[in-house]
Amino acid sequence: MSVIDLRSDTVTQPTAGMLNAMAKAATGDDVYGEDPTVNQLEAGLARRLGFAAALFVPTGTMSNLLGLMAHCERGDEYIVGQQAHTYKYEGGGAAVLGSIQPQPLEFQADGSLDLAQVAAAIKPDDFHFARTRLLALENTMQGKVLPLEYLARARSFTREHGLSLHLDGARLYNAAVRLGVDAREITRHFDSVSVCLSKGLGAPIGSVLCGSAELIGKARRLRKMVGGGMRQAGILAAAGLYALDHNVQRLADDHANAQFLAEGLSAAGYAVEPVQTNMVYVQMGDKCEALKAFAGERGIKLSAASRLRMVTHMDVSRAQIEQVIATFVEFSQN
Ligand SMILES: *Cc1c(COP(=O)(O)O)cnc(C)c1O
Repeated sequence: MSVIDLRSDTVTQPTAGMLNAMAKAATGDDVYGEDPTVNQLEAGLARRLGFAAALFVPTGTMSNLLGLMAHCERGDEYIVGQQAHTYKYEGGGAAVLGSIQPQPLEFQADGSLDLAQVAAAIKPDDFHFARTRLLALENTMQGKVLPLEYLARARSFTREHGLSLHLDGARLYNAAVRLGVDAREITRHFDSVSVCLSKGLGAPIGSVLCGSAELIGKARRLRKMVGGGMRQAGILAAAGLYALDHNVQRLADDHANAQFLAEGLSAAGYAVEPVQTNMVYVQMGDKCEALKAFAGERGIKLSAASRLRMVTHMDVSRAQIEQVIATFVEFSQN
């Protein structure tokens, strides 16, 4: 029985082409700055996204942490969404390791943060308060694409208020492909951007933080502090370069599969939320555990939650999506 894993787009296996690129990668000691493939990835992605510099790191969690710590000193504050990855899903790293106070706000329905609410949360310059330094956004945010017009407003808003602007762009390319724009149309509004190579792009490991030369210099020192300078990391960077060359435009297939899945489940009577990219959310109420077990017996891996999330990716085909729909239909008839 072939397994259909819809828990996340992190579960993809490296393809033969990617493994071949990794095997052939030229390497050196990256802590000495001597790994040509890492240097090519960092310089190449920085250029593609319109930044002066970039830093290759093992995870998106580390990339975001270094971004936040490079922008904020001890006792500074960043404003962030309640459900944002950097706030909720990264072990509280910015607070624990960076002594950066988070100021979480509720997300709007479209995945943005209301700028009037952000303005109200900015602390006055007064010794009672932490110093508000940074606004962190996420795109895509639970599969939702932030409108370009909103990003432009967030940019002028943060300039006006003297804040830096960071993007957790773990799925930046899903947003760009959905909008049909060059990723730079998104990244040009930000001071720093973290991009995951290990999500829909299909690399086994790796994220890249992009920013100014000064910011990335600071992040490089911090990376050492948090234990993450790698040596012949070119074998991993090669997977990232391969992913950027081969797996960006194909994200449209994942989006089409997610849309197809949503339509199929909706037709079967499930409460499906509107789909924009590669994530399908279904309100399951108290049926989630039963569905997870039912699907599991039929080779479909789901993460059980009353708001069930299914993520499409390069290792799930259209035929398998049809199989998933059929399984949900069968479950609803039981
Ligand atoms: C996955 C993810 C990250 C972190 O990436 P890891 O490589 O798993 O540490 C950050 N932000 C978002 C939105 C993510 O989905």
